[in-house]
Amino acid sequence: MMIVGLGRDELRAVLAPLELDTPRVFRALWTGLYARGATSIEQLGLGKKVCEKLAGAVSLARPEMVREQVSSDGTRKWLLKLADGNLVETVYIPEEGRGAVCVSSQVGCTMRCSFCHTGTQPLVRNLTAAEIAAQVVLARDRLGDFVGGKRGNLVGSVVLMGMGEPLANFDAVVSAIAVMSDADGLAISRRRITLSTSGLVPQIDRLGSECPVSLAISLHATNDALRNELVPINTRFNLATLIDACRRYPATNARRILFEYVMLDGVNDSDAEARALVKLLAGLHAKVNLIPFNPWPGSRYGTSKPERIEAFARILVEAGYPSPVRTPRGRDIAAACGQLKSDSTRPQKAPRSLHADI
Ligand code: SAH
Ligand code: SF4
Repeated sequence: MMIVGLGRDELRAVLAPLELDTPRVFRALWTGLYARGATSIEQLGLGKKVCEKLAGAVSLARPEMVREQVSSDGTRKWLLKLADGNLVETVYIPEEGRGAVCVSSQVGCTMRCSFCHTGTQPLVRNLTAAEIAAQVVLARDRLGDFVGGKRGNLVGSVVLMGMGEPLANFDAVVSAIAVMSDADGLAISRRRITLSTSGLVPQIDRLGSECPVSLAISLHATNDALRNELVPINTRFNLATLIDACRRYPATNARRILFEYVMLDGVNDSDAEARALVKLLAGLHAKVNLIPFNPWPGSRYGTSKPERIEAFARILVEAGYPSPVRTPRGRDIAAACGQLKSDSTRPQKAPRSLHADI
């Protein structure tokens, strides 16, 4: 079986029936996979007998990569084929110094935000923890970021901002974060892992107590009527409830909550709305990212004019929120926010109870 992405307990459960659950074999596999980027059993430095036994049962292969695209700005997008044939995307965003890997947590998304391409994908399933964590390993492979068997430093952070609503796949996401942040492995500290959510309030509280990573909230509107339309989960957890959850979230000055706000022409981009935003966030340790809307075929919104975004940003800057406009990256390869959508259109049973726990 493919083991990349498995957590410590899962890996032990694979080794136990082989009678290989020894500290030495475990450590060789764990650090091989996550710290050194080993792709074959021979690279683990284990004896011949152990290798033979392992070879019969496990594989260090990665999920199949069916397409790699490189943008003119250096952004990369990988289309991955999962064991069941479903497709998901992972994006690498180079930044000065180290870059960020943007990982997916679901195939498609059930939240159906009206401006988001992923939300239009008919086929939806949760990714497993291993499928989520493996995306970071694969990104490091493709970037050549396991230099000479060691961890390189091209990947400095992870953002859970790809396809899917991470908090609708809570357990798998938390397990995957444990793998990504493990100090003997991928070693990306929780502070440098940012989870973006459309606002599942009970799970925000759980995240804060069980796995306090950096939090990003897809806000997009300052009143319930508009947010109900843009982010339908708002009908369940309204703005006041969401902002209360943000106030409860463990944050420090160094780690403010990021509020994402997509700039939709004539919909949510007036000066009055900028002022309402300032008011809404009053007293919170917050920063704001204005995301120019990235159009997709058939989308019903337009991108706000640059002067409008500037004027909106100015009101935020004057209120103490610094440089908030997010430059769209990888637009030429449809890798920018909200453009991820693979062609998973196989017929399926209704996505049963994905939401049962919210
Ligand atoms: N589902 C999570 C994370 C993935 S989306 C969430 O919604 O937060 C990452 C960000 O891109 C979110 O803020 C989302 O609202 C935004 N987004 C979605 N579609 C977009 C589009 N077409 N243009 C710009 N941003 C978009
Ligand atoms: Fe899902 Fe996020 Fe897109 Fe909304 S914006 S449909 S929550 S991926």
